[in-house]
Amino acid sequence: MNNKYELIYEGKAKKVFSHNDSDKVIIEFKDDATAFNALKKARFEGKGKLNCLISARIFELLIKNNIPTHFIELKNENTMIAKKIKVIPLEIVLRNTAYGSLCKQTTIKPGTVLVKPLIDIYLKNDELNDPLLTKDRIELMNILSSKDLDLIINLTIKINGIMKSFFKNIQLQLVDFKLEFGYDFKNDILLGDEISPDNCRLWDLNQKNDTIVSLDKDIFRNDLGGLIEAYSEINRRINKLT
Ligand code: UDP
Repeated sequence: MNNKYELIYEGKAKKVFSHNDSDKVIIEFKDDATAFNALKKARFEGKGKLNCLISARIFELLIKNNIPTHFIELKNENTMIAKKIKVIPLEIVLRNTAYGSLCKQTTIKPGTVLVKPLIDIYLKNDELNDPLLTKDRIELMNILSSKDLDLIINLTIKINGIMKSFFKNIQLQLVDFKLEFGYDFKNDILLGDEISPDNCRLWDLNQKNDTIVSLDKDIFRNDLGGLIEAYSEINRRINKLT
């Protein structure tokens, strides 16, 4: 990114720059990957570009379905222009199938298809290791009103419906995903962050037996190898749709 734009914020996977229009930001997707609260780190050449392109396509799909998002347009392959938001420090995880931390913290077996989607809300706070919250704890911290919390939960359920059928169409099982929301300058709630294989679990449905084939960040978490190939495959399947 050339230096006429000021770096406002650098996260683990993205850099956020100012835009000439103060209501907008420029988001650059990095090739860095982190897991387990950044205890594990690596770089995958081309990951930023793939996550940016995949996210853009998903945001476009959601916008078409009347979900308010921060996405405006792609600037280039690894950079997008988005509406500036004040991020709500909550990570909203929706699970369709049990896996990951849910199976470490409960007796539910990995791969169990949940009768109804489960929503787990975590505090976005690296120092505290993103703890799982309760509704009462959220209220206690005064992070947002219960009306806004309900709005975010309802949006998450709607987003799940849209994404689940979209991914099923390209032979992918949407196991779970993490969303972040924020307030724009009008104080409206928008979906922010990214939607990519870095924060969604996607399993390949093109399998003859029951083996789980992850096409997402679990490849990195579990050292399975072939991360760029998997992310490229998702991008290829999405692009074949149009
Ligand atoms: N997730 C994420 N960022 C986090 C934690 C989780 O994007 O800091 C995503 C993760 O990729 C998965 C979903 O949220 O799609 C549920 O993750 P889980 O709670 O099972 O955590 P993990 O297995 O990573 O400990």
